[in-house]
Amino acid sequence: MDMSDVRIYEASDAAPRPALQSIARGFGGACPSCGLGRLFHRFLKVSDNCPECGEAFHHHQADDAPPYFTIMIVGHIVVPMMLWLELNHLPPLWVHAILWPALTLVLSLWFLPRLKGAIVGWQWALRMHGFGDEPEHDPRGL
Ligand SMILES: [Zn+2]
Repeated sequence: MDMSDVRIYEASDAAPRPALQSIARGFGGACPSCGLGRLFHRFLKVSDNCPECGEAFHHHQADDAPPYFTIMIVGHIVVPMMLWLELNHLPPLWVHAILWPALTLVLSLWFLPRLKGAIVGWQWALRMHGFGDEPEHDPRGL
């Protein structure tokens, strides 16, 4: 990357993109730009464009961040509950065998799309990966 690619958005006339609002909209599955259009067209498939305002989402590179944060959050919820139940009530083993995998699955399926939306919203707010106002750039140099 040469220095001509570096942009300081605080000093530019680009419209501000509030990060917390964008993250909250993405967490709710809404477009980080307008808050009206749906961010996903399937469970974890991000739409190419917002159906309301046309904002392009195909730039997003959430990659492994949503599962990473999902594992971290769900683990910090389930493991203390498991330890508390075991230490305070000594339930039979079958209770652990049924309860914790089911709770882990439900919580993971609930958090994963929300955290992916939040990551996409954050990337949009930070103008990462082509979410800026610059013209489309073909990575092949064409
Ligand atoms: Zn939109």
